[in-house]
Amino acid sequence: MIKLENVSKVFALEAGNFAALKQNDIHIRKGEFIAIMGPSGSGKSTLLQLIGGLDLPTSGSITVDGVRLNELNEKDRTLFRRTKVGFVFQNYQLLPMMTVAENVALPLAANKASKSEIKAKVQRLLEAVHLEGKESHFPSQLSGGQQQRVAIARALAMKPQLILADEPTGNLDRKNGQDVLQLLSRLNKEERITVVMVTHDRHAAEQADRIIMIRDGEVVQDGTEGGVLN
Ligand code: ATP
Ligand code: MG
Repeated sequence: MIKLENVSKVFALEAGNFAALKQNDIHIRKGEFIAIMGPSGSGKSTLLQLIGGLDLPTSGSITVDGVRLNELNEKDRTLFRRTKVGFVFQNYQLLPMMTVAENVALPLAANKASKSEIKAKVQRLLEAVHLEGKESHFPSQLSGGQQQRVAIARALAMKPQLILADEPTGNLDRKNGQDVLQLLSRLNKEERITVVMVTHDRHAAEQADRIIMIRDGEVVQDGTEGGVLN
């Protein structure tokens, strides 16, 4: 599903070059639930951005769902992101002036679906995240956990094979965090969506099939939970 070969990412800064990722090989199978852990600044978000085609590596090759991202032009990379990947972020990134239904419908609007088709689909997506009845609410009228579930519903709109979640529970209290984790876990098991989740939270990471630990831009451990966390 995801194959990184010898992937590096170097940022050119005024003070000189900075290697955020250094020659990483990572292999993730379809249907896996992966947690990525590591200290602040170790390259976790950079890694997700590369896997999601938001940015390109400086060297090395990245293949996602049979697509070699290095070889895509800008337009195809945008199409790849829109159709294959659902992004979920720590701060939800909902549009505050739009209702819940409008936020979830955003990815669909780019398609030429009819209004009634979009409405029915939004309804199904909100049911899937247990937010039926909240269609007309604005994000500010929801709890953090509910906002994150809206963000997940939006991420699911294009039926992605892959969800990339960057600290999805980072802003949530324990209960809301657990709800969001459970939702990701259910989507992984029932829909067979591959989930790659960055987290600082050990409890969250324990939900995953495998934990990849990154330090200073390098994978330092990769394995099942017990071995990596101890
Ligand atoms: P955190 O846990 O704090 O979110 P992280 O592991 O996600 O950290 P990244 O955001 O991937 O860390 O950043 C890795 C390193 O790369 C950091 O030192 C950061 O300053 C640097 N970096 C990230 N993006 C850029 C950029 N666009 N330009 C320059 N440097 C960057
Ligand atoms: Mg980060």
